[in-house]
Amino acid sequence: MIRGTIIVAQDTCKGCELCIVACPQDCIEMSERLNVRGYRYAQLKNDTCTGCVNCALVCPDVAITVYRQPKSTSKKIQPAAAVA
Ligand code: SF4
Ligand code: SF4
Repeated sequence: MIRGTIIVAQDTCKGCELCIVACPQDCIEMSERLNVRGYRYAQLKNDTCTGCVNCALVCPDVAITVYRQPKSTSKKIQPAAAVA
């Protein structure tokens, strides 16, 4: 089982919510705050991310970077898709 996490470039996000629809783990939500462009931005809402990269692939603004870590190791999380 792979564990993952994402980093969202908050000020690049335009709040289209495509990543929320694409996430099979339902682990992305929209923030209550606005970014510098006046949009609510995507953010991780729990720790169920598997690092599948779906969210990064559908983001039209390449605002998401995905990191993965095999569950069986204690090594540092490695980049899975450098899409920022
Ligand atoms: S990498 Fe996959 S599981 Fe993780 S937030 Fe993106 S779509 Fe969801
Ligand atoms: S798909 Fe990209 S631009 Fe759209 S809400 Fe998600 S992070 Fe923001």
